[in-house]
Amino acid sequence: MTARVLVVGASASGLSTVEALRRKGYAGGITVLGDEPHAPYDRPPLSKQVLSGAWEPERAALRAEEQLTSLDAEFLLGETAVALDAEKRTVRTASGREVTADAVVIATGVRARRFPGAPDLTGVHVLRSLEDALALRGELVAGRRLVVVGEGVLGSEIAATARTLGLEVTLAGPLAAPMALQVGPVVSGVLAGLHTERGVTLRLGEGVVGLTGEEGGRVSGVRLASDEVLPADVVVVAIGAVPATEWLADSGLALDNGVVCDAWCRAAEGVYAVGDVARWHHEGLGRSVRLENRTNATEQAMAVAGVILGEDRPYAPVPYFWTDQYDAKLQVHGFLPADAEVDVVEGDLAARRFVARYRVGGRVTGVLGWNMPKQTRLRRQEVVDALQEPAVPTPTTVPVPTPVITPAPTH
Ligand SMILES: Cc1cc2nc3c(=O)[nH]c(=O)nc-3n(C[C@H](O)[C@H](O)[C@H](O)COP(=O)(O)OP(=O)(O)OC[C@H]3O[C@@H](n4cnc5c(N)ncnc54)[C@H](O)[C@@H]3O)c2cc1C
Repeated sequence: MTARVLVVGASASGLSTVEALRRKGYAGGITVLGDEPHAPYDRPPLSKQVLSGAWEPERAALRAEEQLTSLDAEFLLGETAVALDAEKRTVRTASGREVTADAVVIATGVRARRFPGAPDLTGVHVLRSLEDALALRGELVAGRRLVVVGEGVLGSEIAATARTLGLEVTLAGPLAAPMALQVGPVVSGVLAGLHTERGVTLRLGEGVVGLTGEEGGRVSGVRLASDEVLPADVVVVAIGAVPATEWLADSGLALDNGVVCDAWCRAAEGVYAVGDVARWHHEGLGRSVRLENRTNATEQAMAVAGVILGEDRPYAPVPYFWTDQYDAKLQVHGFLPADAEVDVVEGDLAARRFVARYRVGGRVTGVLGWNMPKQTRLRRQEVVDALQEPAVPTPTTVPVPTPVITPAPTH
């Protein structure tokens, strides 16, 4: 019997775990530890509505206070987990508190990767938390020069939001086009056209090697591999994220770019991982994956709540993510390998309203819709059908911003 569940991480996947447990009828005790001082909030608006100022930060809250209260869970906020004894299922916090439970759910997400070896400069930002979004928003003044380092999903979104606010925006990174790693050459080419048309300067296809500015002073630019310096008043570093697993170093759990789990998202007896931090064995693909997207945070949490309560169902979803840039909504079901054959099955690339199907060896791996939500949803079934066939190799982590210096297979 599960008398107490401890969830570490009070954000999308942690909250969804609690909600799913209650929905499925679990009446035992629940404790949630979160290192941030805030009640759970949503991250996707941080690079969009919160960053643009269209939303006040409170609107990003995932639930109203009464809804959280009705969950009858103990939320211990501002408490950082520093160690886990996986055998005893005891977590210790920085303040010295110890919580023991029958089931521990690791939901600690990822942290923004910083620019390696960069001097201490003001005006350099990352974007992961609400505080990060508010600090960056304060610097997004029309007319300023912003350089976004990293042409992945997050970097592309930030470039779009800042450009809409009237900044002079340059997007820099080693790949040929925005989100090339995540959507492949055809669609990233269309995205490059959109950013250029909106006035973003693309300095892509060249690595970024450093930031310039006097130590302790303000950033003045971004240095490319060719030694050219792109002048900047503000820099955002969007070069990917690393799983927040440092507190698990002595836990005995297998850590390998995330918490390694079996097909039921189990890292050890009674210990599970959900959301961005979890690397689990996806039975449909026949390999382990770690997904950094909002839908997975909810779906994996629901799956794990079920497993804790005795359901015997491996977690094998069709991944889904979306991104909003200017008036474009891109929606992706499945995987889009770089070497996939891409054909437009609805709409038209030039009109920027289409659905593209991705195939490897004739087999569908994913679909991408651009401002065609209904048609994209209908095409998803082709991905579902293909996943039920024997496994083919696919990327291990989607979607993630691109590393600056060398594109790695996972980040
Ligand atoms: C700016 C931004 C925009 C995004 N936009 C999109 C989008 O458009 N579409 C999409 O599909 N996805 C998007 N995502 C990704 C999506 O938000 C994540 O996949 C989702 O937040 C993952 O939820 P999570 O709960 O697993 O992890 P997180 O949201 O990272 O939450 C983990 C929580 O655990 C806390 N924590 C970490 N370590 C400890 C510790 N030791 N003790 C206690 N607490 C700890 C963290 O502080 C955090 O509060 C975006 C992400 C960001 C940052």
